[in-house]
Amino acid sequence: MRLLPAVDVVIVGGGWAGLLMAKELGSRTSLSIVVLERGEPRKTEDYADSMDELDYSIRLRMMQDLSQETVALRYSRKQRALPLRQHGSFLPGAGVGGAGEHWNATVPRFQPDIFELRSRTIAKYGASALPEDCAMQDWGITYDELEPYYTRADLMLGSCGKAGNIRGKLMDGGNIFEGWRSAEYPNPATKVPYFSALFQDAARSLGYHPYPNPGATLSRAYTNPDGIARGACAYCGFCDRFGCMIGAKAQPTNTLLPVIQKHKNVSLRTGAWVRRVIHDNAGGRRKARGVTYVTASGQEVFQPADVVLLCSWTLSNTKLLLLSGAGDAYDPVIGKGTVGRNLTHQLQIPSAVGFFEQPLNRFMGSGAAGIVISDFDGDVFDHSKVRFLRGGTIYAMSFGYRPIASFGVLPASVKTRWGSEWKKASLHYYDRAGRITSSSEHLPYKSNYMDLDPTYKDRLGDPLLRLTLDWRENERRMAEFITAKCVELTRAMGAKEVLPAAPLEHYDTTRYQSTHLQGGAIMGATPEESVVNTYFQHWQIENLFVLGGSAFPQSASANPTLTLLALAFRSADAIVDRYLKAPGPLA
Ligand SMILES: Cc1cc2nc3c(=O)[nH]c(=O)nc-3n(C[C@H](O)[C@H](O)[C@H](O)COP(=O)(O)OP(=O)(O)OC[C@H]3O[C@@H](n4cnc5c(N)ncnc54)[C@H](O)[C@@H]3O)c2cc1C
Repeated sequence: MRLLPAVDVVIVGGGWAGLLMAKELGSRTSLSIVVLERGEPRKTEDYADSMDELDYSIRLRMMQDLSQETVALRYSRKQRALPLRQHGSFLPGAGVGGAGEHWNATVPRFQPDIFELRSRTIAKYGASALPEDCAMQDWGITYDELEPYYTRADLMLGSCGKAGNIRGKLMDGGNIFEGWRSAEYPNPATKVPYFSALFQDAARSLGYHPYPNPGATLSRAYTNPDGIARGACAYCGFCDRFGCMIGAKAQPTNTLLPVIQKHKNVSLRTGAWVRRVIHDNAGGRRKARGVTYVTASGQEVFQPADVVLLCSWTLSNTKLLLLSGAGDAYDPVIGKGTVGRNLTHQLQIPSAVGFFEQPLNRFMGSGAAGIVISDFDGDVFDHSKVRFLRGGTIYAMSFGYRPIASFGVLPASVKTRWGSEWKKASLHYYDRAGRITSSSEHLPYKSNYMDLDPTYKDRLGDPLLRLTLDWRENERRMAEFITAKCVELTRAMGAKEVLPAAPLEHYDTTRYQSTHLQGGAIMGATPEESVVNTYFQHWQIENLFVLGGSAFPQSASANPTLTLLALAFRSADAIVDRYLKAPGPLA
């Protein structure tokens, strides 16, 4: 193994979390910092010819190569897991910028009560209301503590939207159910395309409270506090699964990388596949000594460092902790250990497809353009007549429907499924079909968790991460309730026919749901219930920080990235202002 000269900080993963930490620590200190990214280098110019649906969206050019590394999955402990050999329900990124290069850039904040979910739920409904096996818990932090960091993340991204609650004052046209914000969004919402406008009118007619979906694709030219200038969106509709060719969508490569590149103390190594965090006991305290990684040419290297930040997303963060023996692996049988517990996804369902007489102009749009309602989110509605906890948002997005993925969506009244009649009907309905989607919370359960698979290995010979994951009655009932609301809304939009989503059964690995997986290295107020404290600092190894969605004890209905950025800003402040001056536990 080759030994490299020591650095002050090593960061594993070059996505939103890793590059934000590199920017913050690199700009505010003179520490030597190395970012290790397993994938390739990337920059905005690479996307100049990216409007190729087959290459990027169907063949998934930007995603992790599953022949190199994947996960094994099963529904319960009684089953043997099988490796996922094709992408399906989530799409992990690889390469500089990570999944933040090909994301939609929807940037909602979490409902405030998510951070205190267990205590608030029990206070309101009693402990007996928690579903059997539920592992819901508080995060050890409140929304009020996080609000200033949310604001910093919004300013960095140039978030576009309409506030619904500024310091407690409810604002017309915004999300009146959201937590308070200290200021209006940095930029106005993007345009409301026709399909989403139909939804907006229908939602109002039913007495709901529609608002523009918040997004980090710019509605106008904007310069952020780091001096990064980006232009406005052209509504080309090639956003999710693509890098933005004009830099309107906030991506780590156009928002963070240019700042990092100005700092000589930060370097970025690509093709660096990290395998272990090396740690030992010195003077009674366990300390990380650095990481080992394999280069693109296959050489094994040890990179010593004083501080190690794991920013390699939920799955890799958890796998690296388990492979490195960093913390106590969760054992679902005895309920002990913390690493790997509280695996959640998010309940994203195409709840109703409406078929309309008129064309919907859905070929144009922007990754986060759309209209949302939060009337059935979290705990904002009366749960006394429903048999589930929590809820979700409902939305009509207009992110640009592309021909291959959108062709052949037909109403039940079209009986033929092949031949010239099918082609004729598919052409007719191509721009006359529109989907109302819901995004709801996924509660954590003691029996949904991650560990190392005993059978299958990755290309380096390390065990695959094994996901034990399935939906429960709470999710099934919630999906049924929300689907009925979506059908009602689609009818109110004037759809001539409506196709509701099928009832939720088992977790489906083949249908894309979102790349919002959480847990494995969750945060909390005590080491008994969590892997990291609220600064992402490992309870047992104080110079190891584990950042990202891996720290979320449960999923929100909202997309996770803004929250992980807000928490990362808070962690960076704590490291710079406190840890570097007096290394030790931050909480
Ligand atoms: C199609 C799509 C649409 C999305 N839309 C939204 C959205 O609208 N809103 C939202 O909030 N979120 C969205 N997401 C999710 C969002 O992209 C992620 O939450 C976010 O990118 C996570 O950032 P991260 O830095 O934690 O992880 P990542 O972006 O996954 O970055 C982690 C990096 O670590 C690297 N890495 C992993 N393992 C190793 C290793 N062993 N050694 C070295 N490097 C390693 C990876 O290659 C990767 O580059 C979307 C995701 C996808 C795929």
